Amino acid sequence: MDIDRLLSQIRTEIQPQIGRGRVADYIPALAEVAPDQFGMAIALATGECHGVGDWLKPFSLQSISKIFSLALALAENEESIWTRVGREPSGNAFNSLVQLEYENGIPRNPFINAGALVVTDHLSGVVDCAADAVLQLLRIESGNPDIGYDLQVAESETAHADRTLALAHFLASYGNLRGDVPTVVDEYVRQCAIAISCRDLALAGLFLARHGLRRDGSRMLSPSQTKRINAVMLTCGTYDAAGEFAYRVGLPGKSGVGGGILATVPGRCSIAVWGPGLDNRGNSVAGVAALDRFTTLTGWSVF
Ligand code: GLN
Repeated sequence: MDIDRLLSQIRTEIQPQIGRGRVADYIPALAEVAPDQFGMAIALATGECHGVGDWLKPFSLQSISKIFSLALALAENEESIWTRVGREPSGNAFNSLVQLEYENGIPRNPFINAGALVVTDHLSGVVDCAADAVLQLLRIESGNPDIGYDLQVAESETAHADRTLALAHFLASYGNLRGDVPTVVDEYVRQCAIAISCRDLALAGLFLARHGLRRDGSRMLSPSQTKRINAVMLTCGTYDAAGEFAYRVGLPGKSGVGGGILATVPGRCSIAVWGPGLDNRGNSVAGVAALDRFTTLTGWSVF
């Protein structure tokens, strides 16, 4: 398959979607990002990487960081995380508070904000700093030591973190937060504020397509753990649009409000797309369209 040709065909076909949707504005720094940008990268299981458009331009990782913190928590501390967070789709917005009370402070899954706060807290129990551990993993797996935090985005989110703080306090009231609220929220906000390009993200996510093997061939996760992360991405990675995403794309995928999506084709490749315009569930309009075209044109879906 000629991947470069495929990528430029996808880019041409989805052109009308580029710039559509709304950039996230509840984090003011993200509202300044120009919506008419688009990048896509495909990293093959061999480590070869191809891209199109703005694939080398860093964007805000946001919720895609939740995959990496979950992977690290599983790698460091095996399955104990599952006593603190569930694995069911929430059917609610990513920042929703409502289910926490019904579920006694156990978030429905690790990819909604409440669940990600618990994972960050869990990871903080085994590494010095959860956000730095995520950053380090991204740098090593992508081979790019220059990936860093966008401190302007972090400060902007911190200044508007009432909802995240509320979630953290609520979790703490059920005894499901070990660290103190400001520290856990700070680490969570910083891991979300990592700036990364499609190229580096596709490479960093390759362990999900390589059944848990890292770039250097060492094992980070067992094939079974990796399969499970991909399963949770499929069912919960795009929040209350997970059904629609599975229907249109048919791959495990994780979105973020920076407009990125990371998707896995197990055994074959990892795909990162970026388009800042979001639909009303917080998923990139151009990104979903590009992944939809990708699986349709290649037949590379899990179904
Ligand atoms: N940092 C963002 C938040 O907590 C991440 C949300 C997202 O990307 N869906 O709201």
